[in-house]
Amino acid sequence: MIRLSNIQLPLDHDANAIEQAILSLLAISAEQLVHFNVFRRGYDARKKTNIVLIYTLDIETTDNASLLAQFSEHPQVKASPDLDYHPVAQAPETLTERPIVIGFGPCGLLAALVLAQMGYKPIVLERGKEVRERTKDTFGFWRKKVLNTESNVQFGEGGAGTFSDGKLYSQVKDPKQYSRKVLNEFVTAGAPDEILYVSKPHIGTFKLVAMVEKMRAEIIALGGEIRFGCRVDDLHIEEGQVTGVTLADGEQLHSKHIAIAIGHSARDTFEMIHNKGIHIEAKPFSVGFRIEHEQSAIDKARFGPNAGNEILGAADYKLVHHCKNGRSVYSFCMCPGGTVVAATSEEHRVVTNGMSQYSRNERNANSAIVVGIDPSDYPGGPLAGIEFQRELESRAYLMGGSNYDAPAQTVGAFLRNETPEQLGKVEPSFKPGIKLTNLADALPDFCIEAIREAIPAFNRKIKGFAFDDALLTGVETRTSAPINITRDRDSYESINTKGLYPAGEGAGYAGGIMSAAIDGIKIAEAMALSINQKAN
Ligand code: FAD
Repeated sequence: MIRLSNIQLPLDHDANAIEQAILSLLAISAEQLVHFNVFRRGYDARKKTNIVLIYTLDIETTDNASLLAQFSEHPQVKASPDLDYHPVAQAPETLTERPIVIGFGPCGLLAALVLAQMGYKPIVLERGKEVRERTKDTFGFWRKKVLNTESNVQFGEGGAGTFSDGKLYSQVKDPKQYSRKVLNEFVTAGAPDEILYVSKPHIGTFKLVAMVEKMRAEIIALGGEIRFGCRVDDLHIEEGQVTGVTLADGEQLHSKHIAIAIGHSARDTFEMIHNKGIHIEAKPFSVGFRIEHEQSAIDKARFGPNAGNEILGAADYKLVHHCKNGRSVYSFCMCPGGTVVAATSEEHRVVTNGMSQYSRNERNANSAIVVGIDPSDYPGGPLAGIEFQRELESRAYLMGGSNYDAPAQTVGAFLRNETPEQLGKVEPSFKPGIKLTNLADALPDFCIEAIREAIPAFNRKIKGFAFDDALLTGVETRTSAPINITRDRDSYESINTKGLYPAGEGAGYAGGIMSAAIDGIKIAEAMALSINQKAN
């Protein structure tokens, strides 16, 4: 196959335009073009009145080799990379040890799936419930304020990304094309085909729920085992080698290959890991608020007269501002046409995040607006970041009225440092509810100062961003893990505990669904190779 990149066509191009562009670039006839696939479709909306679609295409011709030689110097023409996934190992016929995967978020899910596909029959231990039961608990909390600390937005089958916008893009380097493997598995499990070619694929909450169930069924069909309501409370370590786990009910399981993919909110498990002497380090993360605007305003600001175009969909944005006080403020986990959700997993704490459905057709756009912080802001050892998060989340709970409503403020009032008396045009989407207050007390002063400087700066990029009636809701603290469970670069094992494979977002090796899933594949491969090496 030949890959053609940066093929630019008008937004309203007709059905034949792609084929014509191929023929004209390569100066070949229609008979020489056997077929083509759209590998990626993005857009350039810098000129709102002249938005162009940008295609990457994989094509088959009657003579690929000659064309590749003829165009060897052309920047838009290359041989297509191999997109197939090639398993690195196969389980021995007599498998003496089954690997354990702790956590069934995107990282644990892909780790378990790839291990199962290679014949290793993994045992997955997940503290939360299976996804349908978990959905009831999560929506129950949003509607009735009844929190289940083991089954919520953070914990349960599918992990933290299940009730989300389901954005599937990532900026991690991916020379082995693992992201393609992830997307293919998602499509096999029921995700829309378009995730394979749009530049910013997303799935949305309800589709994710059904997909996770199908992937679980495949793991089980391949001999894997998935156990819900199984919180790992202890790790067994003998002479620097992990040998097993103890579950919350006291049951013990043995394995010398254990992936720990527990996400960024398993604070009790982080403490246990630290107490066992497994090497962890405090790491930077970010804190801030969720901002909401009417989606129609964002569409207009980004796409001008093309707002509402079906191909473009609901507009997103990505913003960053470097402040005078040395801090950086940036938008994070932007959810077009979505809702702000209550994302705590601990009692008497308030945490915000965002989600949407595949259609992205809710009234508001939301995004976190966060400030980068690092361990010098929360000195006190590897776990100090967790205490810092807890303090902010507890304060938000009090500011919201101590009933899981979130504290909120209109942007105009925030910039003027006053408590708003009423909401404006932007209706809050946060469930269970919000309480208007002055958010200046919700974060450290340097964060407030930075966000106050950043919002007007963002307004220069997206007209209306600093609209008086836009709404801030807080606090956004679970942007990434506050710790790193440090692992060896080559073996992927913990640097001081053999056989323990720290993985995904909770270990500090991913940030988002796609990067966590990719990390799961890497971990599965490392575990499989190690099991085979020890079996020989
Ligand atoms: P997690 O998904 O957090 O999974 C960890 C799992 O481990 C959990 O299921 C947990 O119950 C389990 N676990 C924890 N401790 C134990 C224990 N001791 N024993 C057994 N099991 C345990 N990212 C995107 O890329 N796009 C988005 O649109 C997006 N939207 C989001 C919206 C929301 C509301 C949230 C909360 C997150 C969102 N994210 C999004 C972030 C994304 O979900 C995470 O980056 C991703 O889920 C991390 O994957 P993971 O597998 O490493 O960890």
